[in-house]
Formats: sequence, structure tokens, C-alpha cells
Amino acid sequence: MEPTAIEATVDFHADGVQHGFLKLPHSHDQSAWGCVTIPITVVKNGEGKTALLTGGNHGDEYEGITALLNTCHQLMPNDIKGRVIILPMMNAPAVTAGTRTSPWDQGNMNRAFPGSPTGSVTEQIADYFTRYLIPQCDTALDIHSGGKTLDLIPYAASHRLENLQQADACAEGARLFGAPYQVQTTEMDATSMYDTAVEQQGKIFVTTELGGGGTSTPDSIAITQRGIHNFLVFSGILQDDYRHPPAAPVKLELPDKHCYVQSEHAGIIEFSVHLGDTIKQGDLIGKVHNIERTGTEPIPYYAERDGILLAKRHLGRIYIGDTFAVIAEPV
Ligand SMILES: [Zn+2]
Repeated sequence: MEPTAIEATVDFHADGVQHGFLKLPHSHDQSAWGCVTIPITVVKNGEGKTALLTGGNHGDEYEGITALLNTCHQLMPNDIKGRVIILPMMNAPAVTAGTRTSPWDQGNMNRAFPGSPTGSVTEQIADYFTRYLIPQCDTALDIHSGGKTLDLIPYAASHRLENLQQADACAEGARLFGAPYQVQTTEMDATSMYDTAVEQQGKIFVTTELGGGGTSTPDSIAITQRGIHNFLVFSGILQDDYRHPPAAPVKLELPDKHCYVQSEHAGIIEFSVHLGDTIKQGDLIGKVHNIERTGTEPIPYYAERDGILLAKRHLGRIYIGDTFAVIAEPV
């Protein structure tokens, strides 16, 4: 196997709790012989399954980062059978900078897979996941949310896969996560995603979107924390009962690219709908105001399909090409 420059300070085969780092040598203006450090926690108790839990794949998505940091210092070996590997800040340089992508190479972690051992900082981290971390796990949970620019209804999701048995297992994990919504999704651009790298290795994978706006709320953290607990029970690792949500998740589907509504104008978006609203084809979603001059009519955008408003742009400022609404279909 091609070597990696990344070194882990934790022993993946040792029982107990270890808090350490993945260290990637990185020579730059502020540190000639420095390294990028990615915090990692391993909790292990004997033989069993392994779950790989990640947050901060995008650096401004705080629901997963926060809930996984809680998990790192709360989860005890006696609570589990098997092993849990937790990286709350997968793209640690981006989390440090408070940005979606890495300040070192503008790397978007979820567009950097499978990565490269000789590539940029982000590509090298992605490569370590592909060749060293993913192969060690049976199940993987990657916690996303909208970040600074998007806001989403809270959901756990799985993808359509050629292996129907694997797809069913992923969907079951998403259901038992216990978020208010469960989504079966088609990605706009799946080729270079972490999701795809995990699924291609035959693992059971659940992704989530649990809020957004570049912050968290007591509600979004509670949903995330409950979901992590339930995912570890689902994985056969946490020796406890499921924490059930008030109701079974509402099932939604993102069947194709037409779910994503993109602006063809720049300006200020005025929304006519709320997250979670039921939308009919032809309904006004919002209007884009021209901010270069007064006296012009705002440009209306109408729904091209029926559905539920799954996501909306969080920022008022909008540019041409921005996805500002996502309409999911009830299953
Ligand atoms: Zn994300």
C-alpha cells in the first residue's frame, strides 16, 4: 500500500478511551516544521463492530461538531461492545477558520475523495480516510448541516445504491437515527464525496443534514445527540435502548436534480415560504430583487413540482447560480 504522511497518535487496537490526533506534516510561513492536527477519539471495549463518526466535514456546520465533542468525553468503554472512532472536526483547518472549506488549499472535504497521499492537505486527509479509517469500520455516520449559507429541516439520509441489501441497511440506519425527517437522496455531484468512498467499500453509511445557518440551537443539538446514540445502538455497539423521537420520521425523497432550485439572478432574495412548508407546483417560492437600481420588478421564482421545502438559502444576499430552495417529494 502506498504510504501516507499522516500519523495517528492513537492505537486503534487498544481498549479504553484515547484522545489524540492525526498529524499531517505541513510546512508553511508560520511554522517551518509544523503539522496539521486533526483531533480523534477512539473508545474501545473488546471485540465487536466499529462505527466511524464524523463531523466538521464542512468547517461551519456546528451541530455535528458540537454533539460529537460531547460524545468524545461522555462515551465510556463500559457503555459499548466493540469500537467507536470519532473525528468531530474532519476538516480541522476549515473548522479552525470557521469556514466551509480549508484555508490551506480551499479544499472542500466532501469533494476531495478518494483523495491522494501526495495531494493537497485536504486530499491527503481524504486519502487517509479512504485507505486507513473507512476499511476499519462497519458503519459510518457523517453529520452535516447547512453551514452559514443554507438552512435545512433536520433529517437523516441514505442513497440509492446498486447493492439493494446495502441500500436497505443504510435506509434502516437513517430511519432509526430518529430525526424528524428521513430522506432518500440523489446527490447533485456524488463522484468525489466521502459518502461515495464509504459506500464503495460496502459499509453501512448514514449522512444527515440537521439545521444550518452557521450555528446550532438546543433543538438541533438534542436531535443530533439522540441520533448519535441511536446510530451506535443500531450499529450493535452501544449497549442501550433506542431513544425514540416523538413521532416516526416523515419520509421524503430527492429523486432528481430538479429538486434543486437555482437563482439565475443576483440580488436579495425575499422568501414566500418557510422550511417544512408543503408546496404546490406553481407556488411562489421567492423573489430576487435587483440591488443595482430602484424601480425594477423583482424576479419571481415558482415551484416546478409539489413537495416539502427541505432547504433554503440562509443568507439574504444571493448570486447567480446559488441553490436557494430544495423541494423534496413525500414518499
Ligand atoms: Zn456539509
